[in-house]
Amino acid sequence: MKLIQIILENTTYKIPNFNFEWEEAIRYPEFKKLGKQGWINIASKGKGVSIISAKDISNTDANKPGSFKLLDKDKQKRTLLQIKSGTVEMPIIAVYPDGHKELLGGNTRLTALMHKNGKATVWMFDVPEDILEKVVDDKIVCDNCGWEWKIIDGGDDLYMCHKCDYNNKK
Ligand SMILES: [Zn+2]
Repeated sequence: MKLIQIILENTTYKIPNFNFEWEEAIRYPEFKKLGKQGWINIASKGKGVSIISAKDISNTDANKPGSFKLLDKDKQKRTLLQIKSGTVEMPIIAVYPDGHKELLGGNTRLTALMHKNGKATVWMFDVPEDILEKVVDDKIVCDNCGWEWKIIDGGDDLYMCHKCDYNNKK
């Protein structure tokens, strides 16, 4: 246990490969609709943050003590080897305007780090409000009259309601 902790103290954290993590990001409609380059632009504006608890992070096993042992054995091994090598890619966490934190990639890494060391450095980036508001999946809902239309049918004035002429873009 002591040895592992010493190794972890010397861990170097790498900036995530956003190009690669796009595969995880497209599971979320708000990122999928941005396209790969849009995703990279937003995610790369984050920064490394040191955490000592994962309790407020959704979509990860890291908030349950001991859950590391329940993860896939091969994943456990690969992750421990990666940690031992001294270089770990930071798990990626999206922070939404309402404060919700969602792990997008690196569950095994985060769970291993929290389990073995009780802390981790993670990549946190803010999800801009303007990519979320007024957009429900692939639709836009008018704030004024409730009329909704598909983004694909929106044309040039995407945010302009054609029923009441309300401009839904701030
Ligand atoms: Zn309207």
